[in-house]
Amino acid sequence: MSDSRDACDNRSLMSSREVSRRGLFRGLLSPAKKVVEQTASSEETLLHRQYPRPPQAIAEPLFIQKCDGCGRCAEACPVGILNIHEGRPTLAIEYAECDACGACTSSCESGALDASVVMDTGLRPVILPQCLGRMDDLCRMCEIACPRTAIFFNQQNQPAVDSAKCNGCGKCKLVCYHGDIILSLKHHDS
Ligand code: SF4
Ligand code: SF4
Repeated sequence: MSDSRDACDNRSLMSSREVSRRGLFRGLLSPAKKVVEQTASSEETLLHRQYPRPPQAIAEPLFIQKCDGCGRCAEACPVGILNIHEGRPTLAIEYAECDACGACTSSCESGALDASVVMDTGLRPVILPQCLGRMDDLCRMCEIACPRTAIFFNQQNQPAVDSAKCNGCGKCKLVCYHGDIILSLKHHDS
């Protein structure tokens, strides 16, 4: 296994731990009812998006109203995956994944990004027909890399994505060195 793969795995583990710690802390402070409400509203939050947004963007119509395009979130993102496009932040996973660090949300003063929103970029992987893993079981890079076990191959070597488990981090796309995974918006109503 390569050093870069090890580094990637370590980073993923650290991110998971950070998220878990944050989640635990939040859980201790929040009543259980609020957690249920947040989970139920996460689907609605992703509706109507024309572009991928920072992972804790509020529902798109409100987001458009509240976000003033200041660009603080894009400056705060340690991996540089946010850009201001048409006056609002969009997220592009080309060279780095979103590890749900929350720096963008913390930097936002307008309320357009909100720590109570379930972390989800709204992106979901589409595994293309030419994926090598579909031919035999020699490649399972995306399945192995996914920190949320959202990708699995069946006994006929055909992959599937559990959209409810996936949070659109994009790690699967980055580990596929054949470029056979694209990310598309979960709800794209254009
Ligand atoms: S959660 Fe972190 S990595 Fe993801 S977009 Fe926001 S600042 Fe960037
Ligand atoms: S399937 Fe989803 S959660 Fe898993 S690596 Fe891909 S984008 Fe991330």
